Amino acid sequence: MDKINLKKLSSKEIEGIIKEWQLPSFRAKQLIHWIYHRFASSIQEITEWPKSLREEFSKNYFIGNIKLIEKKVSADKTEKYLFELKDSERIESVLIPDKQRLTLCISSQVGCPLKCKFCLTGKIGFIRNLEAWEIVDQFIQISKSLIKENRRITNIVFMGMGEPLLNFENTTEALWRFKDLVEFSPRRITLSTVGIIPALKELPKRAPNVKLAISLNASDDTIRTYLMPINKQYPLYELIKTLKNYPLKPRQRITIEYVLLKGVNDSEENAYSLCKLLKNIPCKINLIPFNPWQGCEFERPEESRIVKFQQILISKGYSVFIRKSKGEDILAACGQLKAMYN
Ligand code: SF4
Repeated sequence: MDKINLKKLSSKEIEGIIKEWQLPSFRAKQLIHWIYHRFASSIQEITEWPKSLREEFSKNYFIGNIKLIEKKVSADKTEKYLFELKDSERIESVLIPDKQRLTLCISSQVGCPLKCKFCLTGKIGFIRNLEAWEIVDQFIQISKSLIKENRRITNIVFMGMGEPLLNFENTTEALWRFKDLVEFSPRRITLSTVGIIPALKELPKRAPNVKLAISLNASDDTIRTYLMPINKQYPLYELIKTLKNYPLKPRQRITIEYVLLKGVNDSEENAYSLCKLLKNIPCKINLIPFNPWQGCEFERPEESRIVKFQQILISKGYSVFIRKSKGEDILAACGQLKAMYN
């Protein structure tokens, strides 16, 4: 019989195994604690268990780990982690320090099928979905490496490689495990999506309290379809209708992400039409001036144009933030993850 990776199991399944082994129920709690809170990478590390039990248990089970193969630190202290998976595929995660916050940006797929024009991950194409445990393990491996520095991740964003709602089952399972096993509050997790409408409608039922961010990037279908071909399948009208009906808790808002591309979507007219489009949606807007990468066809707008765009939105009553680009020098910024694929 093949050994079973304990990280693939839910808490219920772990409890079931412990019962099957006729062990006291606290052994299940210990196992979960050692995997998700002390980040044990092998059963042998669970020193709270007698050696004989560890040895017996290791005959049937193991603790799987995605393998950290490279870490780069940018001039602004953003960290990029490159992981290798069991089948030798590669993904990246990014750790972004900002005042009291330490935000982990995780990947949900190897590559991405959506081919947004401004994104380097889209150039890789789709390789495969990540399993739920591989999504959570990015958090575990990085948290483990932070222990000696006395640092803890405070927020998680699904904004790395891939479109999380195209990997719906594994993403929602991972969100559940963050809550149930890692005990990480869903209120400190943001899922960013282009707006895969059927999955977006299901999301609040499967992952209530998780914050939502929409990668919008345009206020009309012509520009959005040019930038994001998925817009043909799920056009703005449908997306906006879904957002208007999205169940939000009092004071909760949807984050609208808008990558500003010089001469493409950064005009005053674009700003006014964005205001009109977002009317009656409780939201805040993050403007992300484009981070150019080698060979891309887009440029970052001039500072004055970025500020003008922001002012127009503010004048119409929106909360608008200009996101400072982080980790550009190590290709860790938004839309720059390619995990060494060429
Ligand atoms: S922006 Fe997101 S959805 Fe679009 S290609 Fe890149 S990873 Fe995929």
